[in-house]
Amino acid sequence: MVIFEDKAALAETIDQLKKKGKTIGFVPTMGALHQGHLSLAECSNKETDITVASIFVNPTQFNNPNDLKKYPRTLDADLQMLEKVGCDIVFIPSVTEMYPEEDNREFDFGSIATVMEGEFRPGHFNGVGQIVSKLFDAVSPDKAFFGQKDFQQVAIIKALVRLTNSDVEIVSCPIVREADGLAMSSRNVRLNSEQRKNSALISKTLFEAVKLKKSYTVEQMKKWVINTIDQNPFLETEYFEIVDDTQLQPISAWNDTEKAVGCITVNVGEVRLIDNIYI
Ligand code: AMP
Repeated sequence: MVIFEDKAALAETIDQLKKKGKTIGFVPTMGALHQGHLSLAECSNKETDITVASIFVNPTQFNNPNDLKKYPRTLDADLQMLEKVGCDIVFIPSVTEMYPEEDNREFDFGSIATVMEGEFRPGHFNGVGQIVSKLFDAVSPDKAFFGQKDFQQVAIIKALVRLTNSDVEIVSCPIVREADGLAMSSRNVRLNSEQRKNSALISKTLFEAVKLKKSYTVEQMKKWVINTIDQNPFLETEYFEIVDDTQLQPISAWNDTEKAVGCITVNVGEVRLIDNIYI
């Protein structure tokens, strides 16, 4: 496994590999890796010749300075995990390497960026657009792998590809969960043991919601999910929205779409957790 900190050196190596006919798969991450991230690398290994992962905690996508400051950083363990899973190249740039000057690029993602995470985290998706477009420039991947855990982010990246006329194929991979159902997240390590135990209620409620679809209207289900979670003293729902899976617009009746997705954000103390499920 080769490590690069410099985007020009990385781009040169990628160029040579492409000249030899190799296909490039890319897995962007913010580190503090877990099996969810590794599943993306495994998927890339299967679908492409060379897997490139990046580890970069992108400041422009954090709207909350405390969340950025407390974001877990575990570089040595991350590199060991990537090596073990058969990753070929890791890109670990500094902030100045990625942002030599302030980036004023603004993306108009339209209505997919104004709901849910877009509403509650102003500027977040523009920051995601900035870093992913820069990383795509450095890595020039044929395919890039993203987790369905960040459901809205996948839609944003697909929109980014269209807006920038990029030919990167975006592959979305299933959510990897802990044994009790909690969606794996780098932020889970910030939960104390009581918070961690109680957080399992988030996915448990989503799984239960799927079974209740026949007996509840959309509005009733939204209320039921929020009430069920908020009855737990450790958990506080920020939003639960039921949207169609392409435009990500809230639906008001089940027959508004064949593919409804329930998307939730829950605050557990200072830690903000997200999850989603097809209903
Ligand atoms: P992050 O390091 O949180 O920016 O995540 C990097 C990539 O890993 C994103 O595409 C995430 O959607 C994906 N990811 C994070 N957690 C999971 C999970 N539990 N299952 C699948 N993919 C995940």
